[in-house]
Amino acid sequence: MTGAATGLALRCRCGALTGRLDPARGSRLVCYCKDCRAYARHLGDDVANVVLDDHGGTALFQTTPDRITIDTGAEHLAALRLGPKGLLRWHTACCRTPVANTLFSPGLRFAGVPQSLIAEGKDRLGPVICLNAVDQADPPLGRKGYGVARAGAAVLLRHLRARLSGQGGGPFRDDGGRPVAEPRVLTLAERRAAEGAVP
Ligand SMILES: [Zn+2]
Ligand SMILES: [Zn+2]
Repeated sequence: MTGAATGLALRCRCGALTGRLDPARGSRLVCYCKDCRAYARHLGDDVANVVLDDHGGTALFQTTPDRITIDTGAEHLAALRLGPKGLLRWHTACCRTPVANTLFSPGLRFAGVPQSLIAEGKDRLGPVICLNAVDQADPPLGRKGYGVARAGAAVLLRHLRARLSGQGGGPFRDDGGRPVAEPRVLTLAERRAAEGAVP
């Protein structure tokens, strides 16, 4: 029992997928990396407009997969990878809403949830502890990044705690640790198009 029953409401843009996020353990950060931006652009301009801020940053809540519960529409989960070594970028097939980024290997308990998925209660997520990859912000952010080491340490600590308490891959893995949907790797052409679409 993770307390997700009382968590923040999650909802995709069309409402078919709903769920809850337990905000008790996690960190807020904004990621300005090119990959997160290319991903949002690949899903579509309508998605990027919702997910990306004025500098191409994605606001994320990093936690462990077991803190996420899907109540309806789990069958809409789909996974993309920007390249053969990329993160599993979970989104909905119904309306292309980003749901969470996890690692390909089931070993490390990690999930980065785009805050655009959170329907209400974002004020309960705590302060932003990290601005990541500000050198890749577009247009430039005009300030220094911070908190990368702290965010990384928090990821590791949460992973260890989740592993010790027997938590697994949450709604993204079956009992055998396999992804619940077959991840699709973008072709080079698709990836280039997504990067080229970055203004
Ligand atoms: Zn949807
Ligand atoms: Zn990123």
